[in-house]
Amino acid sequence: NLETSPRRTFSKSTKLDNVLYDVRGPVVDEANRMERNGTHILKLNIGNPAPFGFRTPDEVIYDMRHQLADCQGYSASQGLFAARKAIMQYAQLKKIPNVDIDDIYTGNGVSELINLSMSALLDDGDEILIPSPDYPLWTACATLAGGKAVHYICDEQSEWYPDMEDIKRKVNSRTKAIVLINPNNPTGALYPREVLKQIVDIAREHQLMIFSDEIYDRLVMDGEEHVSIASLAPDLFCVTFSGLSKSHMIAGFRIGWMILSGNKAIAKDYIEGLNMLSNMRLCSNVPAQAVVQTALGGHQSVNDYIIPGGRIYEQREFIYNALCDIPGISAVKPKAAFYIFPKIDTKKFNITNDEQFALDLLREKKILIVHGSGFNWKDPDHFRVVYLPRVEVLEDASVKLRDFLEYYRQ
Ligand code: PLP
Repeated sequence: NLETSPRRTFSKSTKLDNVLYDVRGPVVDEANRMERNGTHILKLNIGNPAPFGFRTPDEVIYDMRHQLADCQGYSASQGLFAARKAIMQYAQLKKIPNVDIDDIYTGNGVSELINLSMSALLDDGDEILIPSPDYPLWTACATLAGGKAVHYICDEQSEWYPDMEDIKRKVNSRTKAIVLINPNNPTGALYPREVLKQIVDIAREHQLMIFSDEIYDRLVMDGEEHVSIASLAPDLFCVTFSGLSKSHMIAGFRIGWMILSGNKAIAKDYIEGLNMLSNMRLCSNVPAQAVVQTALGGHQSVNDYIIPGGRIYEQREFIYNALCDIPGISAVKPKAAFYIFPKIDTKKFNITNDEQFALDLLREKKILIVHGSGFNWKDPDHFRVVYLPRVEVLEDASVKLRDFLEYYRQ
């Protein structure tokens, strides 16, 4: 009898108490609700290229179609031989030292591997240095694993590069590792060799592992070169993450990888943990693994997007200039990826809660951005814009943003 049965409720695990992932959080829920009611929303909130008209090279689709019938079974848990061989060659091109086929793990996107790598590492109270602002999955997974995410500041005054003094201040005997996101989401920064070398020096001095998220390594503009930090640290243990979601515009296929390199002997036990977790999830999506070789070895259509005249390049030029033109907004020009992280002048606008700011903008102008605190940025004075939409759409959005700010709580 339903009337008399006990009223039991189910709560989420307390492991989730301090976990935050606002890129798809409450502001997005509100946008979805508005959309269901028929409101058109300008979405500048998610780094998903395909819905904005970016297409993977035809040969990738051809290859997947061609191979699909043979991808019905599980693969080896770390991934298909051919996919890992292609990733190994990619690692060689990036001068990542001491990598063989067993050092490569494919995943359902880099996301799965971030989770796996943190779960295998952290015990309660272990500390890990993570940038602020960050791609919040890193902090979320470190926290979920029971670790303590300690945020080091990236300095807007210095092109958003990591602040070495802040890193040094925050290392202690419980610190196991440092995370780098290079090129960076949300700032679009690209770290030069000298900056990377300083991080390696700190990691060497304090015997830290290095985790480097390089998913945007092929979306670099202005003729700049992307350097993998692992290539500068053959004596340290490094884990480098990348994938095809952004470079090949196939975020929905779910394929990423991680590469172990350098001094693997010091991480033997950790690697056993990685292998156990990798085995437990059986394997990553096999049809997506099957296209890695063609994608990495074939036509790199992304190169056409990031040069003058290309969509990502031109959209960056537009959004940077348009945002900087708005009184009270300033920004560092991004060099890579497709994000910009502008600053709001809080002397001009009295904003104390940036999530509320994002909600107000959404409700008033139907524009969806992500507030800075969603990226573990401590002050309510930044937001992230994804500049994947075409210039016409970005123009519409920037006009509306300017208009909104003119009247917003001055
Ligand atoms: N790392 C960074 C810095 C990202 O921005 C993203 C997605 O936006 C990911 C990892 C996750 O990518 P995926 O799981 O699609 O490989």
